[in-house]
Amino acid sequence: MSRIPADVRDLADASLGLLRQALANHPRICYASSLGAESVVLTDLLWSELPQIEVFTIDTGRLFPQTRDLIERIQRHYGRRLKIYSPDAAAVESWVARHGIDGFRSGTDQRRSCCQVRKIEPFRRAIAGYDAWVTGIRSGQSVQRARAQPLAWDPDHGLYKVSPLLAWSEEQVWSYIRARELPYNTLHDLGFPSIGCAPCTRAVAAGEDPRSGRWWWEREESRECGLHPRLPALVSG
Ligand code: SF4
Repeated sequence: MSRIPADVRDLADASLGLLRQALANHPRICYASSLGAESVVLTDLLWSELPQIEVFTIDTGRLFPQTRDLIERIQRHYGRRLKIYSPDAAAVESWVARHGIDGFRSGTDQRRSCCQVRKIEPFRRAIAGYDAWVTGIRSGQSVQRARAQPLAWDPDHGLYKVSPLLAWSEEQVWSYIRARELPYNTLHDLGFPSIGCAPCTRAVAAGEDPRSGRWWWEREESRECGLHPRLPALVSG
């Protein structure tokens, strides 16, 4: 990590320290990669230093082509595969039959139920049997995330949640990616700071809230997919 600026290297060391502390107390840990810029950093830290933490992602069936391309480039870069979970096909068929192919635009309830079928259900399958899951959220991303804790009990999913990147700024994330010459989603170069499913993500103008391009037709406080639905309780370790 010699080309990484000192402040970013210190952050990376602190993130790895938190992950090692979490592993000491909770040996079965997985990482849910969103394939965003933060995920690129975390995947690099894990596959370089802590390969025993499984990295998985969810192919909702509505990802951008650029996101699918990133999966391929990450796998080529490291010479190993991401574990990919997909939604239950029958559940997707049933949801589409009831709401329409883009029925998530009809209201917050419909949008959340789509996220439930395409993201939350496969996520629950993915974390089954684990003691803790890792997330790449940062404090600066939203009002809710600003109040998250590095290690916390996640009452919604029944395991611990480790957030090693909370203290990182967006600039520090990109400084790490550039220094390490890591593959990243090319949509980031086109004004997409936060990337989810294609029909639910749009570019934002410079200086706008980075998450304002996600579900932009909803109020800010409802703009989470359900993986980070409420503030978890702080735990000591
Ligand atoms: S982000 Fe949009 S398309 Fe993707 S699961 Fe949620 S509502 Fe459905």
